[in-house]
Amino acid sequence: MSQKNNEHLNPLDSMKERFSHAASILGLDQTAYDMLINPQKVVVVSLPVTLDNGKLQVFEGIRVVHSASMGPSKGGIRYSLNVTLDEVKALAAWMTWKCAIVGIPYGGAKGGIKCDPRNMSAGELERLTRAYTVAMQDVFGPDRDIPAPDMGTNANTMAWIMDEYSKIKGVVSPAVVTGKPLVLGGSLGRVEATGRGVMVSARSALAKLKMDPVKSTCAVQGFGNVGSISAKLLSMLGLKIVAISDITGGYYNKNGINIEEALNYVRKNNGTLEGFNADRITNDELLTLEVDLLVPAAMEDQITENNAHDIRTKLIVEGANGPIASNADDILFKKQINIVPDILANAGGVTVSYFEWVQNRLGYYWTEERVNRRADRVMKQAFENVFQTSAKYNVSMRTAAYILAIDKVASTQKLRGVF
Ligand code: GLU
Repeated sequence: MSQKNNEHLNPLDSMKERFSHAASILGLDQTAYDMLINPQKVVVVSLPVTLDNGKLQVFEGIRVVHSASMGPSKGGIRYSLNVTLDEVKALAAWMTWKCAIVGIPYGGAKGGIKCDPRNMSAGELERLTRAYTVAMQDVFGPDRDIPAPDMGTNANTMAWIMDEYSKIKGVVSPAVVTGKPLVLGGSLGRVEATGRGVMVSARSALAKLKMDPVKSTCAVQGFGNVGSISAKLLSMLGLKIVAISDITGGYYNKNGINIEEALNYVRKNNGTLEGFNADRITNDELLTLEVDLLVPAAMEDQITENNAHDIRTKLIVEGANGPIASNADDILFKKQINIVPDILANAGGVTVSYFEWVQNRLGYYWTEERVNRRADRVMKQAFENVFQTSAKYNVSMRTAAYILAIDKVASTQKLRGVF
């Protein structure tokens, strides 16, 4: 995705600004504010790894635990060249708020390794992941901190972590990570869970706005796990997906894109949409299309003060974490664009991660139907709670989501006490 103009932006600033805004409306006391604005724990490690050419390269590995007040901390691990400590801090805090909003007993964390997973072999990725697990052996744990996939990582990565951690501890420990392959104790429905939650959130929002899905058009930015599944499920709901995109750019068809076809194309085409049969558009053109629903599901800071004025959709449902920079919030609010914020809209993933962890601990596995039914119920209820809070305080859904989450975490902290 094009990030040329956005390099000065820092997702941690966006997180802190929104946190502070919600905290002031809530009248959060200073102690709680001080405890929640910064992470509880930051671990940065150097990981020397042998590359396939025999040379040694030292990678930087990060794990940030924002809060463990509500339970063990939870959150994905990101492999990307753009990983920074501030980004991981922001993502960790967002996990805390996300888990509180959907009411699962977890705190928030996030991990990251600065690397280019697309240009590393499976062997290199495996050695890097195992080195990271060894370095984080006292951070991770089924009752301590539970990683999951994020950008650049997947079920295979989780399998390596589970294996390495189990070897170190001398016990088979599937509940130390979620998003595992099914045969290792993964949950049915986990791969689709984030996109499914985006669809459920969009469905709730469309209903509130009295918009008919069958008469609505939609553009989806990003065609990774979240974007592609969201696009597929939204098209099954009846929306016409007129545009999709990935790292190779945007693809537009005013009559609607067949998402199954696009998914099959990507599978056969080295994982990208390059050459897919549709009109080519730029990433910025996709974001500013006149559509009923826009789903940014790629990465942070895609909608900023630079392009917010040009956004022409009625509704944005944030599939990615932090796709809208806080400097665009007021502009979009004044344009009366409805936004279902990331910490609500993409919480379906961590919800089913929780179900996976529960199943691992029970040693009893659910049907996909049960997973989906329960996850849908959680997402619908969370949407309703945020919606009611936004009406109560007369604020945006985003501010309402922060208010709800901060209130929960702060009151739990108060009950637990400090020394
Ligand atoms: N990485 C995902 C997220 O940002 C999932 C985290 C998890 O399941 O722990 O929500």
